[in-house]
Amino acid sequence: MGINKVKGTYDVLPNESHKWIMLEKKIRDILSLYHMREMRTPMMEYSNVFHRDSEGSDMVTKETYDFVDRSNRALTLRPEGTAGVIRAYVENKLYASQELEKVFYIGPNFRYERPQKGRYRQFYQFGVEAIGTVDPALDAEIVILAYDFITRLGLKGVKVRVNTLGDEASRSAYQEALVKHFTPHKDELCSDCKVRIDKNPLRILDCKIDHKHQAVIDAPTPLDLLNETSKAYFDEVIRYLDAAGISYEIAPKLVRGLDYYSHTVFEIEADIEGFGAQNVLGGGGRYQNLVKELGGPDLGGIGFAFGMERLLMAIEASDIDFSSDLALDCFVITMTKDLRKIATKLLYDLRAQDFVADMNYTDKAFKGQFKQALRLGAKYIVILGEEEAKKGVASIKDTKTEVQEEVKLEDIILYLKHKLES
Ligand code: AMP
Repeated sequence: MGINKVKGTYDVLPNESHKWIMLEKKIRDILSLYHMREMRTPMMEYSNVFHRDSEGSDMVTKETYDFVDRSNRALTLRPEGTAGVIRAYVENKLYASQELEKVFYIGPNFRYERPQKGRYRQFYQFGVEAIGTVDPALDAEIVILAYDFITRLGLKGVKVRVNTLGDEASRSAYQEALVKHFTPHKDELCSDCKVRIDKNPLRILDCKIDHKHQAVIDAPTPLDLLNETSKAYFDEVIRYLDAAGISYEIAPKLVRGLDYYSHTVFEIEADIEGFGAQNVLGGGGRYQNLVKELGGPDLGGIGFAFGMERLLMAIEASDIDFSSDLALDCFVITMTKDLRKIATKLLYDLRAQDFVADMNYTDKAFKGQFKQALRLGAKYIVILGEEEAKKGVASIKDTKTEVQEEVKLEDIILYLKHKLES
């Protein structure tokens, strides 16, 4: 048996990595406009960071990679970014110096899910968290940021869907209403949903199996059970979104799976052909209990996460040019091995001038090296021949115009600098 990659993982090959680098650059550029700073937390945490008593979501009960290390510590590979960020926020007492901490993260997550297009066992997310302040303007800011991000990327056919779950009282009233609504249909629901009725009935609403069941279609929405304060909070969020003039829609049935959300929840959906069920690019919401549950003070936060593989798929489907600008300025061909010392020095000097330069390292004949230079897209080819070297010159070919000129060895750098910069 050969050695293969782990099921549900993928390799980013050299001809694709520029897309990732571009995307990460865009993320960093855009988020810095929002005065957000990057945070990097470990890929593994003690299991109780994710498996908390309060948690009844599917993800923490069955989708995580859990293991014990050699000292019998229970560890989990992070399935999402928020819990680790909050753990670090609490552990480092970031709340003591800032009333609002705005951070973003980029990194891999791990979930034991059934792999398919747009769904992997190791996948990248970038996300933001704004922790410490509860205000409708801040909820709006985070939704606006998500909208701004996808707009700046130039994605087409993307929708921002917003809803509220209300405060804790509204939310538990809603959960009760769902239990009451679904109990008479318990036998008709899938095996997961039978458990969800007691554990996390909200999750029934985004069940992939039962989503066409009449009981799911007719289920009450959070908006039906909002109390006055929660309704006023949501109305304010909407007024801020309108003030910014972004386009969004209210999605009364949107609840999101994780059970730590309250108040604002939202999702970014791409209507792109071939995406099928994996059309959700990202989503997020406000969480009120997470900081407290992880041992911190009673502070709320709001955040979102985008799946980066899906963003790249959407970028491709929208025909956005993410091509690399790592073009080869110069390729050096040597006709004999002895000339490689001159080439080595030449390459060193070219790179000192910030030019992308390379040469051939095998014993290939001239023709093979020339073909190689063209295949790599070199703008200029420097040909070092024996006779020429004796005369102290090299030939330089412009691959676009096909003009070839003889240049003194000591003038090569200046010659190319002049050509490449004009
Ligand atoms: P979630 O943390 O489940 O709300 O997911 C947020 C986003 O991460 C989703 O909208 C997807 O874009 C992405 N995502 C979640 N799970 C996966 C996965 N297994 N593979 C690839 N992307 C994922």
